[in-house]
Amino acid sequence: MVTIDCHLHVTEVPEHAPEWWVREMYAPWGWEVGSVDGPAIVEHLDATGLDVGMIQGGDIRRTTHHPEHPHDRRVLVPNDYVARQVAKSGGRLYGVAAMDPLRDIPAAVLELERCVKELDFRLLKLVPTYHHYNPKDRRLDPLYEKCLELDLPVMIHTGWTATINSAMEFQDPIQLDDIGRRYRDLKVIVAHLGYPWVDEGVAVVAKHPNFYAEMAGWTAWGPEILAGALSKLKELGAIDRVVFGSDNTDARDLYRDARRIAASQGTEITDEEMAGIMGGTAAELFGISA
Ligand SMILES: [Zn+2]
Repeated sequence: MVTIDCHLHVTEVPEHAPEWWVREMYAPWGWEVGSVDGPAIVEHLDATGLDVGMIQGGDIRRTTHHPEHPHDRRVLVPNDYVARQVAKSGGRLYGVAAMDPLRDIPAAVLELERCVKELDFRLLKLVPTYHHYNPKDRRLDPLYEKCLELDLPVMIHTGWTATINSAMEFQDPIQLDDIGRRYRDLKVIVAHLGYPWVDEGVAVVAKHPNFYAEMAGWTAWGPEILAGALSKLKELGAIDRVVFGSDNTDARDLYRDARRIAASQGTEITDEEMAGIMGGTAAELFGISA
């Protein structure tokens, strides 16, 4: 069965983002500021034993700000750059569409359609906290409706980020409940499962059968929290709606340890369920075959 990492970032520094911005975002993890292109992601997949990666760029120019760098705010990894990385990956990478909807909603809808129909992208990424909007804001509806029309899943960032100018008020995954009530067929991936609002993330995914949980970046939070989330999702009948994302980290130990902890607490994540998390569920969601 194909294994899939559905949450990976490509960024060339400083072409796509100022150094200060990358440093601020990754500061808590002590990561090096460096460029990550498609070939680097393929190397990462090889190193972590995965078949396929979904790569995303983004446009955060409108809301990027630092008082000491007032003119150095160009955070833009274009969709066409992502498509070029996909094209040279020999089938290992798939594109994720990203844009700033609030710059121009009709233009965002057209760009999404272009990404899917011309570039064969398989997912839309939204980042409400970085873009300062509530994901349930009705201005976003044309994008959600286009996703339904294209049968395209949407991944929505929830939870914490170290980026200072992000708006924490839009990080709580409870704000996705309204989307779940209004769009019962829209496939929504709750990125980062709302950490630190993990219980809210579990609740919203368990409630809506069209919602999926994804825990990218949780290597930073440790296996106990992952074990707890997986156990609760299993208890509530949603373990078959967990997809694997890494945020460019090596999460192998994290999942192995989380499974062990969950088992020691009485919740067995079976091999079959694990295969679903590591790619089976995502393959179906994104139309990716082995
Ligand atoms: Zn990410």
